[in-house]
Amino acid sequence: MMAKSHMVVGGASWVLVAAAAGMDPLDPQGIALAVFGALLPDIDHPQSWAGRKFRLISVPLAALVGHRGVTHSLLATLACLLAVLWMGMEAMATPLVVGYLSHLAADTCTPSGVPYLWPSRRRFTLNLCRTGSAAEYGIVTAVAAGAAWAAGVPVEALLPN
Ligand SMILES: [Zn+2]
Repeated sequence: MMAKSHMVVGGASWVLVAAAAGMDPLDPQGIALAVFGALLPDIDHPQSWAGRKFRLISVPLAALVGHRGVTHSLLATLACLLAVLWMGMEAMATPLVVGYLSHLAADTCTPSGVPYLWPSRRRFTLNLCRTGSAAEYGIVTAVAAGAAWAAGVPVEALLPN
């Protein structure tokens, strides 16, 4: 999916989790961390937002494992969680991991799918939309609207300007 879609789905996922946990769903720090987490898995693509920010990581990673390899797995999600905890940033862990997992879930909608169980090469896909297609925008808008409705927040808070 496109970076903007991952940002919206990441924010929407966090708003849902925060509301369910009795926290302020529109706390800007939580949303920002979830959006950041939702952009991280594409660090394996040098042209992505995260890939351009961290070229020292993205270029060798893309050469070694290719796009949608290890960074799109449950193992990488766990590694991300452990790294945040190791750095003593417990408060950041939940929104970051929620955002990260939202990225994997969103990419599962595309035909290429996601290798959740990497190093197993098996990819899981729902095959609902191609990246950048009108169907992708429809799904992302529906996710944002559904999350906003369920969390009781205005949908405008979840959509980019
Ligand atoms: Zn991705």
